[in-house]
Amino acid sequence: MPVQRLAPDLIVTNALIRTLDAADSVARALAAKGGRIVGLGTDDEIAALADGQTVRVDASGRTVLPGFIDGHTHFQSAALQRAFLIDWMQLRPRTLGEALEVVRKRALALPPGTWLRGDGFEEHYVAEQRFPTCWEIDEVAPDHPTFIQGVGRHQVSANSLALHLAGITRDTPDPPGGRIERDETGEPTGVLRERGKLRLDVGRPDNVLPRYDLEQRGQALRLAIQFLHANGITSIHDIVNDPLEFRAYQQLRQAGGLGVRVQVLLRGIEAMIPLEHVAAVGLLQGFGDQWLRFGGIKMSVDGACISRNAAVYEPYPGEPDNCGLVRIPQDELDEKVGLCHRAGLRVAIHAIGPKAVDMALQALEQALAAEPRAGHRHRIEHAYLPAPAGQLERMARLGIIASTQPSFVDFGDAWIHVWGEDYLPHVMPLRTMLDLGLRVMGSSDFPMVSPNPFLGLKCAVARRTRNGNVLDPREAITVREALRLQTTGAAHGGFEEHLKGSLEPGKLADLVVVSEDPFAVPPEELDRIQVDATVVGGALVFQRKGAMLT
Ligand SMILES: [Zn+2]
Repeated sequence: MPVQRLAPDLIVTNALIRTLDAADSVARALAAKGGRIVGLGTDDEIAALADGQTVRVDASGRTVLPGFIDGHTHFQSAALQRAFLIDWMQLRPRTLGEALEVVRKRALALPPGTWLRGDGFEEHYVAEQRFPTCWEIDEVAPDHPTFIQGVGRHQVSANSLALHLAGITRDTPDPPGGRIERDETGEPTGVLRERGKLRLDVGRPDNVLPRYDLEQRGQALRLAIQFLHANGITSIHDIVNDPLEFRAYQQLRQAGGLGVRVQVLLRGIEAMIPLEHVAAVGLLQGFGDQWLRFGGIKMSVDGACISRNAAVYEPYPGEPDNCGLVRIPQDELDEKVGLCHRAGLRVAIHAIGPKAVDMALQALEQALAAEPRAGHRHRIEHAYLPAPAGQLERMARLGIIASTQPSFVDFGDAWIHVWGEDYLPHVMPLRTMLDLGLRVMGSSDFPMVSPNPFLGLKCAVARRTRNGNVLDPREAITVREALRLQTTGAAHGGFEEHLKGSLEPGKLADLVVVSEDPFAVPPEELDRIQVDATVVGGALVFQRKGAMLT
């Protein structure tokens, strides 16, 4: 029998390794073998372990950080968006005219009758500050069922053909938790909010949209995973709905091509798979392996703030009848959260408006009172609007994890547009959350915003929006704290702190070499930091052109 090779598979030397362990230790060099970290030490100590087969990364004095964990994404949707849809996030039209011109050109290239979709539209960054109407889209794409989804898919705009195929007419009533916008004569304008999307909602089993097959999904995922590597992301939590999403990940995993660690949160309401069926299987989060794991159940109480759909107590300025949309009534929420909790499943509840956060807390409090359980790690996603007195304290008392998206500060201009600055004290309350002892994790909600973790770092520390506004600086946190949101914080939020989040012997060898030390860069410029190399499981999966590391 051949003697087993003992030398490491990979070493990184000449680095400032910020381990983010409990003592915030710093090391100079690191060795990885079998996908795990096997040593941290001086250059000489680590170099002495290597043999001729060891991959050597010379960091030339650069900083090494744990691979970033994006704790809330819609990654597979984002991958499809990038590969096949009109990606408004990348195009960033400045006017409706520019946006419609893109639609017109795309329609010319596709046979009539083909669905034409766009995702990630930001109405607050076009001059008209609104979505196009069905009639405006009809002018450029009358023969293609067309619809434009806003960021987060809380709101869409469809043309007449898409409305027709979805069966939406002037006689269709607004469904509970949704709104069909109408003109003064009662005719639908094409703009649909939340559950008002009806059969144009990809989350509904009876939706009329074409479904991407496994081959298309695999193709889109491969490309998008490279994009994650270029952003230094080595693990994600992905909120999925379609069984094909599970299948696509499994196929890539079996083909050895996953390259990023995926924790799947399954949508439990407005979902293709009934929650009762999931609970009946007896799955618990953690099922799977270090590449692909089940992470619990996601559900959404309300809409988004920028489309004035987040559930609030005071009406939106200028809309005296609008307090947002509640997508799940309290009794149903209590029942579904209770069902998950009793089944041992962790829930991650989307709640943006203070009313929605209160609803989520009530459901969680009730479930925990009926069956107390330490270490439940239930999460509330977002919760960034100014909180009523005592709300965050209640969240801390119940041991709920705050799953935050600091990069949302980047589009805080849209919040100011909706609310005015005076309504936003303590918005994105990271400082308060940490001071209350809440467990806080970080994410991008990609494709809501770019997954670049350094944008999140800048937003958490400098709190500056894309147009240069600063949102309540009292809620700023330090670079040290901000780095932990998408490392140790997100590892804990995925029940995986024994595996990842910090660089320590025995943990997974997931790390990034970055262009500059975040502790040495001015807060306003933290997003200039580039990822020069990404290592997943001890394998070098990305090197920036010209970074010259090996
Ligand atoms: Zn989300």
